[in-house]
Amino acid sequence: MEFEPVIGLEVHCRISSKTKMFCRCSNDIFNAKPNTHVCPVCMGFPGMLPLLNEEVVKKGILGALALGCEIPGFSKMDRKSYFYPDLPKGFQISQYDLPVSVKGGITIALSDGSTKRIGITRLHLEDDAGKLTHTAGGTLVDFNRSGTPLMEIVSEPDLRSTEEASLYARQLQKIMRYVGASDADMEKGMMRFDINVSLRPRGQKEFGVRSETKNLNSFRSLEKALDYEIKRQTEILESGGTVVQETRGWDDNKEVTISQRGKEEAADYRYFPEPDIPPIVVTREMVEELKKQIPELHDKKADRYQSELGLPAQDAHQLSHDAALAAYFEAALEVSGEPKKTSNWLLSELMALLNADGLSISESKLAPENLGKLVKLIEDGAITGKIAKDIFKEIYEGNLDPEKAVEEKGLKVMSDTGELEKICQQIIDRNPQIVADFKGGKEKALSGLVGQVMGVTGGSANPKSVNEILRKLLAESTL
Ligand code: ADP
Ligand code: MG
Ligand code: ZN
Repeated sequence: MEFEPVIGLEVHCRISSKTKMFCRCSNDIFNAKPNTHVCPVCMGFPGMLPLLNEEVVKKGILGALALGCEIPGFSKMDRKSYFYPDLPKGFQISQYDLPVSVKGGITIALSDGSTKRIGITRLHLEDDAGKLTHTAGGTLVDFNRSGTPLMEIVSEPDLRSTEEASLYARQLQKIMRYVGASDADMEKGMMRFDINVSLRPRGQKEFGVRSETKNLNSFRSLEKALDYEIKRQTEILESGGTVVQETRGWDDNKEVTISQRGKEEAADYRYFPEPDIPPIVVTREMVEELKKQIPELHDKKADRYQSELGLPAQDAHQLSHDAALAAYFEAALEVSGEPKKTSNWLLSELMALLNADGLSISESKLAPENLGKLVKLIEDGAITGKIAKDIFKEIYEGNLDPEKAVEEKGLKVMSDTGELEKICQQIIDRNPQIVADFKGGKEKALSGLVGQVMGVTGGSANPKSVNEILRKLLAESTL
C-alpha cells in the first residue's frame, strides 16, 4: 500500500525586541556570558510581577499580519505548567484559547514550478525557558534565554512532503526577516521547529496517528528528521503495526528520532489565565498602523515586477524572494533604467562572482549603483556587452565606477564615426568576394565584415553601428 505523509509544523521564532518579554533585561543574548542578562523577574523569583513588553506584542502582530493572519483584537496570556530545571517559574506564559492572531497562510513555490498555499492556524506569543548544558561534572543552567519573547507559528496539516515542509520553513524565515519581526537566525538559536508527522493510505481522507518531534534547530535537521519519521512510520505500517501517538526527540549525531514520552494533552499543562497580566486589547488603529510598516511582500513584489517592469515571471520571482536581492535590484535599476538587462546582469554575472566568493548579495563587493552604471553604459552604446563582461570581474573586485574604469582603460566604444567609417571602408576594400556575395543576396555575408571590423577595433566598436555603417557604405559603393 502506498502512504501519503501529512505534516504540520510548529515554528518558534524569537521576536527581535530590544528587551525581554516581561522585564527590562536585554534580549540580545547571543554569546553573552551565562547568567549576565538576568533579573529577579526572568529568574522567576517569588513575588516578582511580569510587565508585558509592548514592542513584543507589536512585533508579534507584525509577523502575524505578514502571514496574512487575522487579529481578533482581544487576547490574553495563559500559564502553561511544566516542571523543568531551566524553567524557574514552574510555568511558561503562553496563549491558550485567545491567541493574538489566527487563520493565515503563505504560498510556497515548489520545484516543479507550481505553487501551494499552506494554512496557518495561529500565531501566539510566549516566553522561552533557560538553557541546560550537560557536562561530565554535572548540569549547568544559563538563564539568559529565560523570558526572551517567542512567537509560535502553528501550521495546518497541509504539508505533504519533506520538500514542502522545508520550503515552508524557509519561507517563514524570509518573511519574518522581511518585516523585522524576528532575525530568525538559526545559528543563534532564534528559530526552532517541532514537526508533526502522520501517514495515511493514499486516497484516504482521515489523518493517521501522528508523532511529534520537538526542537529541531536547523533546516538540515528539520529535513533529516522528517525523512526519518516518514520512513520509520512507513516501515511500521507496512509491517502491519500501528504508530503510537507520542513526543519524540531528535539525535543530531545518530540522525534518528527517539521516543521521549506519551503525548501530553491540554489538561496535562493545567492551563489557566495568567493572573498577573491583563488581557491584550489591540485596536483597529493599531493594526492599521502596523500594516503600514509591512514592506511589500514577496508575492506582491513579484507581481509588480511583472506588471510594471515587464520582467518575465522567473526573473520577478527570483529577484523578489529575497528582500536584500530585491533591494539591490531596485537600487541598480534606479541608475540603469533598464529592468530586464539589470536583472540579467544581477542574476547571472554578479551572482556567479558572489557564489564563487561565497558571499551573499548584502555582502557584495560591488555597489548596486555601479552595476546600474555599467548596464547604462552598455545600453547607451558607450561600451559593448562583450567589453563589459571582460572587465566585470575587475569592476566587481574593486567596486569601480564603470564610467571611470572604461575611460581609464580606453575601452569606450569608438564614438568617432569618421574613424569607424574609415575602418569599415578598409575592410570592404580588402574583401571583394564577401562584398560580392552580400550584393548577390547573401545577407549572412555581412557578419563576416562586421566580425573583421570588430577584430580591428579590438571589440571597442558598437556592433550595431558597425552594421549600419557597413550597410550604408555598401549601398553607396558601385563595386
Ligand atoms: P498540539 O501539538 O499542542 O496538540 P495541535 O493538535 O493543534 O497542537 O497540532 C499541532 C500541529 O500538528 C499542527 O501544526 C497541526 O497541523 C499538526 N497536526 C495535527 N494533526 C496532525 C496529523 N494527524 N498529522 C500531522 N500533523 C498533524
Ligand atoms: Mg505541539
Ligand atoms: Zn530579566
